[in-house]
Amino acid sequence: MEANLTQAYDQIIARNPGEAEFHQAVREVFDTLGPVMSRNPQYTEAAVLERICEPERQIIFRVPWMDDAGRVQINRGFRVEFNSALGPYKGGLRFHPSVYLGIIKFLGFEQIFKNSLTGLPIGGGKGGADFDPHGRSDGEIMRFCQSFMTELANHIGPQTDVPAGDIGVGGREIGYMFGQYRRITNRYDAGVLTGKGLTWGGSLVRTEATGYGLVIFTERMLRTRGLSLDGMRIAISGSGNVAMYATEKAQELGGKVITCSDSSGYVVDKAGIDLELLKQVKELERGRVSDYVMRRGPSATFVPGGSVWGVPVDVALPCATQNELDGDAAAALLTNGVTAVAEGANMPCTPDAVTAFQKSGVLYAPGKASNAGGVATSGLEMQQNASRDSWSFEYTENKLAEIMKNIHDTCEQTAEEYGHPGDYMVGANIAGFIKVADAVIAQGLI
Ligand code: NDP
Repeated sequence: MEANLTQAYDQIIARNPGEAEFHQAVREVFDTLGPVMSRNPQYTEAAVLERICEPERQIIFRVPWMDDAGRVQINRGFRVEFNSALGPYKGGLRFHPSVYLGIIKFLGFEQIFKNSLTGLPIGGGKGGADFDPHGRSDGEIMRFCQSFMTELANHIGPQTDVPAGDIGVGGREIGYMFGQYRRITNRYDAGVLTGKGLTWGGSLVRTEATGYGLVIFTERMLRTRGLSLDGMRIAISGSGNVAMYATEKAQELGGKVITCSDSSGYVVDKAGIDLELLKQVKELERGRVSDYVMRRGPSATFVPGGSVWGVPVDVALPCATQNELDGDAAAALLTNGVTAVAEGANMPCTPDAVTAFQKSGVLYAPGKASNAGGVATSGLEMQQNASRDSWSFEYTENKLAEIMKNIHDTCEQTAEEYGHPGDYMVGANIAGFIKVADAVIAQGLI
């Protein structure tokens, strides 16, 4: 890292103590910005980096709710409105017990650059709560969502801040939150949340978008080496929204997805994941991946604990959570001859793992580029809501594919232009940053 960047980075660490994931996300960006800062002294003079690293607004609030036993429960809610230079804050809500300010800030920070890369007019934000939905009844989930929205409604709006889902927040939770928002505001602001149901303002393809977009990006990346997913063995981690629809699109393109996982362990299915069964278990029954194995028969085995990265594959798509693929896992993948790694989750590869992939020369795509399809399609949902229109599946999917190809090509060309051909991390960070930096400068001292 260059001296002026190191100085700015040190200040950010000192101003944000104890937020390890945020530090890691900032470092990943700063490590790649040297060439762009030296070509553009105006960014340093205007303290653009320091401004981008300081959220415009951070909201932390109490979420009281009552469980089924009549006990009062208290959780902590967050919304970090990070940067609105390009448009209203946009980014998901995460409900997971590990949530604290450092996680929300890392996700919000990543979101700024990701949203910039989509080419759509959306700024970056993120939110959530340290609430654990596992094992909670439908009634408990609803009461929690209503209480969470009772406070959040004060801060969001179609022109201000537009949340969506993330870990622990899917269509059910968005529904409960949207209902409460309408009740509080007495407005049918469809564009206030994305990921809505199809009959009340949702967009076709939004559910599938992150996983589909990831696979479209991966295919395009493979093509730069004359390869394709057709016939490749693929490891996917997680079994939630992103993992499931990455599996679907990869299978459609002829890939053989042989793994899935959750926080209790992982599955290897030599015959290839039976997606209909996985969807039945996870989406309809809200079960675990071990339930999939019990129903699947002899081709599948369940391994408690551990990770999927020791399984020999050609392509690895981490789709569960941050820092789930470390240096040892990267070494195992490389030993087994992996060709490409593309992030479906946000920051799933640790810095050691990223370095190992970059040094080895395998294709590696950072999440802010390869998983941008979800937020891009949320942007398309906002467009449909604003014009009171709804587009067909095919039309929307074509738009998603076009956006993912543009993101891929922008990253590839930017990396080349700045002297790091093939380095998608450099390409994504620099291309995402320049647009935001120029907008920040153009808008004065904001
Ligand atoms: P879901 O809640 O639908 O699924 C998350 C999956 O990851 C589950 O299988 C879950 O298992 C597993 N998981 C979560 N935390 C952990 C953990 N600490 N250890 C092991 N497994 C874990 O979330 P999504 O699929 O929506 O999100 C997955 C990732 O993709 C996240 O990083 C998210 O930020 C990112 N992302 C999501 C987008 C979207 O549109 N949904 C858009 C862009 C990025 P279990 O049920 O056991 O917890």
